[in-house]
Amino acid sequence: MSDAAPVTPLVRTTKMRVVAQDPSVGASNGKAILTALVDVPAEVLASGPRGYRVQVVDYDASTRRLYPPLDPGDSSEAWMAAPDSTVPDSVILEDPRFHARNTYALIMRTLARFEFALGRRIRWGFANEGHQINVAPHAFADANAFYSQRDEALLFGYFASRSGNRNVFSCLSHDIVVHETTHALLDGLRNRYMEPSSPDQAAFHEGFADVVALLSVFAQQEVVAALMDRPLDGRARQRGPEAGVLMKEDAKLENLRDSTLSAVAEEFGKEMSPIGRSSLRHSATMTPSKDALKQFIEAHDRGEIVVAVMLNAFLAVWATRLQQLFRDPRTRFIDRTRAAEEGARVADYLLTLAIRALDYAPPVHLEFGTYLTAMLTADREVRPADELQLRQQLRDWFGRFGITPAAVSGDGAWLQPASRFSFERTRFESMQRDADEVFRFVWENRDRRKLSLYEGAYTRVISVRPCFRFAPEDGFVLRETVAEVLQQIRLSAGELSRYGVRQPDGMPSEADVMLFGGLTLVFDEYGGVKYVIGDAVLDPTRPEVQERQSARLQSLWERGFYSKKKFSMRRFSAVHRRRALSSLAQIHEEW
Ligand SMILES: [Zn+2]
Repeated sequence: MSDAAPVTPLVRTTKMRVVAQDPSVGASNGKAILTALVDVPAEVLASGPRGYRVQVVDYDASTRRLYPPLDPGDSSEAWMAAPDSTVPDSVILEDPRFHARNTYALIMRTLARFEFALGRRIRWGFANEGHQINVAPHAFADANAFYSQRDEALLFGYFASRSGNRNVFSCLSHDIVVHETTHALLDGLRNRYMEPSSPDQAAFHEGFADVVALLSVFAQQEVVAALMDRPLDGRARQRGPEAGVLMKEDAKLENLRDSTLSAVAEEFGKEMSPIGRSSLRHSATMTPSKDALKQFIEAHDRGEIVVAVMLNAFLAVWATRLQQLFRDPRTRFIDRTRAAEEGARVADYLLTLAIRALDYAPPVHLEFGTYLTAMLTADREVRPADELQLRQQLRDWFGRFGITPAAVSGDGAWLQPASRFSFERTRFESMQRDADEVFRFVWENRDRRKLSLYEGAYTRVISVRPCFRFAPEDGFVLRETVAEVLQQIRLSAGELSRYGVRQPDGMPSEADVMLFGGLTLVFDEYGGVKYVIGDAVLDPTRPEVQERQSARLQSLWERGFYSKKKFSMRRFSAVHRRRALSSLAQIHEEW
């Protein structure tokens, strides 16, 4: 008889130490590099590391060199034996095996964060529906990093530091790794957001990736605390009777912006400016203007509007929370750790909301006002009472940039449809996972009193996703099923006017035009239709649908998308390079 081994429950997460801020920050002020412990889904890794969703293959295309993989069984060094132990700065700066683990951990943590927010597993956006993304931490000797859908990969470059005496690795930048991972995850969730549409949609990919990266930084309490304790521009920040406390005055919105936000933005900008990160400083301090949408058309400039709005909403809610702690007039200061904890909690919730809103966004043609409405809806679903005035702050800050909710309801969230849908011929049980069953429902309800789809278009269900959402305070679980319906129709430019769409000025009549439209359907746990979000490709009963198609076509035509033969996919490598170039130009101006 064999000895019965005690049953040990499988752990779901494991802790790994990652670089929390760009390594140059520690180096420049003579302190150790700031690191943080993050929770990563537990798994038995293969050499690389290679896991069930991420596989690091550390090939450098510039030098044609394959770096040695991290062997998970190797415990010859303390940092390898215990992934949560401290890591010497020399290892952080020089050991490619640590770079591989750092990149792996940040990508997995970001994936887990999305899965938590959405309450389900998430796929990468690859054509073959592959499960593992390839990651090259030292992909090339160039100041760039990007997500490549074609290569199913995240590629991180490296470049010489300003002083020229060492390399700067973009795979060590928390911000850049999370930004690129977010592009890949967003592409998996809303495949069509990479295609040509309004200027908002192109900008959204960039803005959203920055929002997730920044809120992920603020959601780490130890990082927020460290930032609050750091002197800014050489002057000591502490105004209190002793270090480690926050005075009432410091808890005001403007002062929080000056201290914490500017500190993060500035530190991001330092070494990573060749890769375009100094624009974060710009968005953090951007002055609200109702003309911003007219002024900023280019993707990354326009994306900064979303970043500015979200950061300001975050600060405003954080300041409100802090002011509540000062309600007693005798309270002159609070513990700074406590203040950081509040900030991390607000950031974490806002991050969940920013991600969850994607499920309440249309499958194509996302605009900023639509995203605002999606966030307001996502929040109302789990927090009916707006105790922190988060929804109010979001509306207020978007409003300052001239962006209003897409929904006409009083609270700016999506309205529940008034139509009575027909369910007679569909079974809810299979509608939770079967695209054919959902399509049958869609087809039976296509008429204008129900889903109002355009009959003459090619229509298909591109995803069906059952999900569980957790409410932040009471652990309440909301069950929903989200399905995406896509419509497309190919017309020649000369035919457009027959359908109520304007032919862009100067576009030849024989030019081929593909129009897209689509709906996101949200079903409640009993199979009822809760929300119908988006527009059919054409809708003769609603002239505003054709009006929006006309405006998008005109804008694409003006931006040169039709000058090439076919629709071209946007390439993040190019977007990031433009961003880098313009941020260098900015620095030039500043200096
Ligand atoms: Zn990007």
